[in-house]
Amino acid sequence: MTQKFSKKINGIFIDPIIFTFSFHCKCSGECCWYGVYTELKEYNSILSIKEKIIPILDDTQTTDIDKWFEEPEKDEDFESGVAVGTELFNNKCVFLDKNGLCSLQKLANIEGGHKWKYKPLYCILFPLTIFEGALTIDDEHIDRLKTCNKNPIVKSTIFEACKEELKYFFGEKGFAELEEYKKEYLNSLGTQTNFIPNNSREVA
Ligand code: SF4
Repeated sequence: MTQKFSKKINGIFIDPIIFTFSFHCKCSGECCWYGVYTELKEYNSILSIKEKIIPILDDTQTTDIDKWFEEPEKDEDFESGVAVGTELFNNKCVFLDKNGLCSLQKLANIEGGHKWKYKPLYCILFPLTIFEGALTIDDEHIDRLKTCNKNPIVKSTIFEACKEELKYFFGEKGFAELEEYKKEYLNSLGTQTNFIPNNSREVA
């Protein structure tokens, strides 16, 4: 667990870079070309609904469930200590369909449930991530994508872009605490009123 950051909400440290890092993306679904690590519980939950997933897969996806996941591996950023990666099929996550839609989200939408009901947490959070116990930006993944955050005319921060995801992750109370921390942090930089987002880990 990292000690680099001072603020903790719901047991997760907060990297304040999320309040200053500029972000804008015309999403092309490219972030799903590499698959994702799921928590063991998510992996089990996805397999438990395989009968519902299989009928909505298209001809670029596989119905062979043995090709859906990699071997489990140890990872302390996951609650169970075990992560299971989704496999790639046709050079994209097995759950990404030919229209760039996530089949897990599509299923939730068809059922009329919450859109992220079946979606792995790390998919919901991206371009944010949890690394060594801290909420931070997934700059490694952002950097390797051709379309993600490549627009130089940027007026918004990653925090602003991900409000819905952050509310979902922290809940209303935790998100309110995060907003308070944002004000405190920007005030401490003296940038609350004339703040300009920047695409850097360095804080002026
Ligand atoms: S599970 Fe869905 S959202 Fe996550 S990488 Fe695969 S297609 Fe994308």
